[in-house]
Order: sequence, then C-alpha cells, then structure tokens
Amino acid sequence: MSIMTQDGILNISLMGGQARAILIESTQLVQEAKRVHGLSKIATAALGRTLTATAMMGSMLKGADESVTATIKGGGPIGTVLAVANEKCEVKGYVGNPGIDLPRTSKKLPVGAAVGKEGRLTVIKDMHLREPYVGQVNLVSGEIAEDFAMYFTASEQTPSLVSLGVLVSDEKVESAGGLIVQLMPGASEAAIRSIEMSAGMFTDISGTMKEYHLEGAVNQLLLHLEPEVLERRDTRYACDCSRRRVERALITLGRDELEDMIATQHGAQVDCHFCNKRYEFSEGELRALLEAATSREDK
Ligand SMILES: [Zn+2]
Repeated sequence: MSIMTQDGILNISLMGGQARAILIESTQLVQEAKRVHGLSKIATAALGRTLTATAMMGSMLKGADESVTATIKGGGPIGTVLAVANEKCEVKGYVGNPGIDLPRTSKKLPVGAAVGKEGRLTVIKDMHLREPYVGQVNLVSGEIAEDFAMYFTASEQTPSLVSLGVLVSDEKVESAGGLIVQLMPGASEAAIRSIEMSAGMFTDISGTMKEYHLEGAVNQLLLHLEPEVLERRDTRYACDCSRRRVERALITLGRDELEDMIATQHGAQVDCHFCNKRYEFSEGELRALLEAATSREDK
C-alpha cells in the first residue's frame, strides 16, 4: 500500500455547513523554502507556519491572478516574515534573518521569541479591485497560529481556530500542516460548543500529518464534526519572477535611481527575495530602461 504524501489543501464542510475547515499538508513546500533560503530550524518553523497559513488563505481566493500577502513584523531577531500566495495555491516567502538561532528553553522551537510580539500581522489581498483589501492586527504571541486566529476573528469578523505546525529535524522538514476551522453565520449553539470542545485535538497538527497525511487527517481530527470534503487542491512553493517583471520594477524606480546605477555601478544585479534568482543588467541594458523611464516620466 502506498500512502499519498503529496502536499495538498482540502476544503471541508462541517456539521451540514454550519462551519468549514481548510486542512493543508505542506511538508514539501516548507522543505523547498528551507532549501531555497538555507533556513535554520527556527526560521523553517516561523516561515513554514506563515507559508502554511498563507497557502490556506490563497485557497479561499476566487478570481484569476488574485493574491494574498501576509507580513509579520514583531520586532524580534528574525526580522520580517513575509509570505505570498495566489489563487492557484502557489506560495512563496522569505524571512529577514534566515540563519537565526536562539537557545531553547523547552522542547518547542522558540518561534515566538524569534518573531517578537511588539508588532503587527498585516494581510493584503489583491483582488483587482480599485484598492487592495488591507487588514491588520496587533500580534498576540508571535507564535503565528494565534496571530492568524486573531486576524480572522478581529479583522475579517469570522471566529476561527487556527493550528499550524512544522516538525523539522537537522536535515529536513519531517512534516508540516495546518488547519483553519471557521464558524459560518447562523451556526447553532450546539455547533459552536462542538467546535470549542474539539479545539484541543487540533494542537499537534504536524504530528498528525506525519502519521496520517492529508486524507487520513480528516477523520483523525474532524470525524466528530461530520466532515464532508468538497474539494482537493494541489499546493506548492513557486516563484513567478521573470526578467520582464524585474525590468518593470527597475523602470518604476525612476530616472534618478537608474542614472545613479549607471554612473556608480555601470550595471545592476537584482536578486529575487523569494527564490534568490539573480538578474544581471549591463550598462547598455540599464540605458534602455532609463529611456523607458524617461518617456514615462515625460508623459
Ligand atoms: Zn523569484
């Protein structure tokens, strides 16, 4: 018998539609983030949890080319933690200090101490409206799951349980996963109580994923809430950067910046924050971009 270990996201109806769950197995995508950025164990846990939550939020988007960006700035030594997901559940991200190491005070990795809690979680959803949707909450603990739960509850007015877990050994990501349970409007008191009572079962999500994987975790975690799987989506770590996008970004910098790059560096190297791909521009190529920027500014 082979066990399906591919990453994926399930959209699950609970108790006849009184609540819903999004369940993700994200082991491979967190492993890929670790590989791309050379993340320490703490950085793997912090970015992995954030990527896992953001991928689930990507699965809630509806339209083509929509995206959601989650930024955590907690004032801690890891710096900024940022993740972006699109409606295809492709996710990418980075942390300010990928090599961070802190002494452990318990069995758990000190993610909250690395992130800090004197700051905010900001969520920006670009749904091609005139203005993007921006929601912001003060951090609860910097442990990330609680912070996303606060975001859903306070900013989106949807009471939510959020569990995120990354189990990382010295070599690799052993397992990673997440669960969001949200009450739907009109949920009965009994339904609310059932969910409150089951919250304790959701705490070891990475352990559950390691043992049961995505499909098996549904019954393991949610059986008593009458789960009905509505949809399964693939999810992965992917960067959509391109030379064209970098060129556009350089043009947006404007005439003065480009002239300065030509005069002082005689070229430019631009590294993608998400995949570390390097784009090189010669002096001649920068001059062509300068022309494009100049004609744009003259308009
Ligand atoms: Zn890239």
